Amino acid sequence: MNLILLFKTDFIDEKKVRLTDRRAEHIRLIHKPEVGDQLQVGLLDGKIGIGVVSLVSEAQVEMEVQFERAPPLALPVTLLVAMHRPIVLKRVLYTATMMGVKNIIVFHSFRVEKSFWNSSLLKNEEWREHLLLGLEQAGDTILPKVTFRKRFKPFLEDEVPEMVKGTTALVAHPGGALLNKIAVNAPVILAVGPEGGFIDYEIEMFKKAGFTLVGLGERILRVETAVTALLAKLF
Ligand code: SAH
Repeated sequence: MNLILLFKTDFIDEKKVRLTDRRAEHIRLIHKPEVGDQLQVGLLDGKIGIGVVSLVSEAQVEMEVQFERAPPLALPVTLLVAMHRPIVLKRVLYTATMMGVKNIIVFHSFRVEKSFWNSSLLKNEEWREHLLLGLEQAGDTILPKVTFRKRFKPFLEDEVPEMVKGTTALVAHPGGALLNKIAVNAPVILAVGPEGGFIDYEIEMFKKAGFTLVGLGERILRVETAVTALLAKLF
């Protein structure tokens, strides 16, 4: 945790926070601070600053906090990513958040098992925890917006064409033109497929909606690695 993410509910007075959950345990076991030590803190959707530890016990950590600077700049990219198995989706959300993506749309695609849509990760917004972990890793505070589209065709036909106006729209597909050969102007919309890849029909729909096919060479990468590599090449 490179930044301890704080919520309004952590405050016990104007400048003092008390943590009792996994963050307190992490601070105690990993940072092992003495009273007076400083940790980097950030207010969710707010500024970054310093927390001076004022109490550490088995059950809780207290800090005096002050905030002074803005979080890192966001990437000007909307990530459209196919639904995945929960364990993979967690990694994708974590990775995209860590890299600075602030708008993520998870959509259904032909090679996605329908049962993935019933996973417990989607209930009660359990996936949100992985965004918070990504922010803590990157030293960021701005929570990405994550939304879901269960039907591919209406999404591609009715929504995406409007979204891509004024953007560079790219769909990652093995065999696509190498990314460093394509002129990219921000903002970018980047579509990444499921573990089985996109079917031809879907690629055609993306092309019709104004997307250019981009590739990362002949190696097939795991989806979260593909997302990282694509974003690193783009920005
Ligand atoms: N067997 C599938 C691979 C899917 S990998 C196929 O051949 O299409 C999951 C997703 O990651 C892909 O749909 C694509 O969006 C992205 N991806 C993985 N490796 C890539 C590469 N070398 N170039 C472009 N996209 C890649």
